[in-house]
Amino acid sequence: MRTIHLAALPGDGIGKEVMVEALELLSLIEKYDHTINVEIEAFNWNSEFYLKHNKMMPDNGLETLSAYDAILFGAIGDKRVPDYISIWEFIMPIRKQFKQYINFRPIKQLKGINSPLCNSRDIDFTIIRENAEGEYSNIGGSLFDKTNDELAVQNSVMTRKGIKDVTTFAFEYATDKGLSKVTSATKSNAIIHSMRLWDKIVQEVADEYKDIKLNSFYIDALAALFVQKPDTFEVIVASNLFGDILSDLGSALVGGLGISPSANINPTGEYPSMFEPVHGSAPDIVGKGMANPIAQFWSTALMLEHFGRADISKQILHAIESSIVAGKTTPDLGGTLTTKEVSNEVFTRMF
Ligand code: ATP
Ligand code: MG
Repeated sequence: MRTIHLAALPGDGIGKEVMVEALELLSLIEKYDHTINVEIEAFNWNSEFYLKHNKMMPDNGLETLSAYDAILFGAIGDKRVPDYISIWEFIMPIRKQFKQYINFRPIKQLKGINSPLCNSRDIDFTIIRENAEGEYSNIGGSLFDKTNDELAVQNSVMTRKGIKDVTTFAFEYATDKGLSKVTSATKSNAIIHSMRLWDKIVQEVADEYKDIKLNSFYIDALAALFVQKPDTFEVIVASNLFGDILSDLGSALVGGLGISPSANINPTGEYPSMFEPVHGSAPDIVGKGMANPIAQFWSTALMLEHFGRADISKQILHAIESSIVAGKTTPDLGGTLTTKEVSNEVFTRMF
């Protein structure tokens, strides 16, 4: 029997509300499926912790987390703590320390979810975003004070290794899933240094996978195609910035924040990967029982799939779809149920 040692970080706001339900889901899975064991430890490292200790986690926080197989994360954010603190002192150190250089976002239209596109059908693809370098670098500077003309330069850093790793992950994923094409998001006609390197290395990797076709689109055209032909994609590989934008566009096509999951993956397995809903702490609905738990359930499903349990992951998704089709949803999806009631609907349909 496989044991997964899981660190749970509920975080703030609705992160805590949906984490309770995800942990309940895991305990039910364990109870009914005797081939899996999940040992969970929860850590309340969040904005409250910061206000008390002036840091987001203990000094040995990362070391503590490194002993786990995976991290299940809720959401972080509190108006009393600036965003840059929670991002740069919590989320980013985890991603960096554990070399989670892949951001994995399934864009899949579940049964019962209406897309804002009128004649969309069968939207089901995956965005593989480079998560560690690229446009989101802190290299650059500004001359605000030194000249009368305000000027700022922001550098994008792309490396052969970074591009090769993310592209290889995308092609391996396509191979595993028996898919036939990978689409690369580029802009090498205008961003002539970094994006030409991107194109070159993506092509080199693609040449190693004869059965999978590489398509390449400029990011502007690709954004338009997301709206016009979202059912034609299978796997998309993108840089940090392009992947960030495409991921939110994609998730808006298939139901939005209440249901969108993500994973920050360390592909070598040397360090824990982290699974989290895309949404934040949503302070406007905290304590109202309105938080949709589906994004957290789906993130939990991605975690189980990561450990080779695609079977349980599918079961979770079926239960989610069946609840949505029956109209058993929270207000963000048009229903009237609470977080707890939706969770119970999903649990009943699973077991
Ligand atoms: P943060 O600063 O932590 O990112 P935020 O105010 O930006 O928080 P988000 O969670 O990013 O909030 O989402 C924006 C809005 O979408 C929320 O204010 C909320 O109304 C809605 N929302 C997000 N997640 C959910 C959810 N799981 N269920 C229902 N509504 C949600
Ligand atoms: Mg937000």
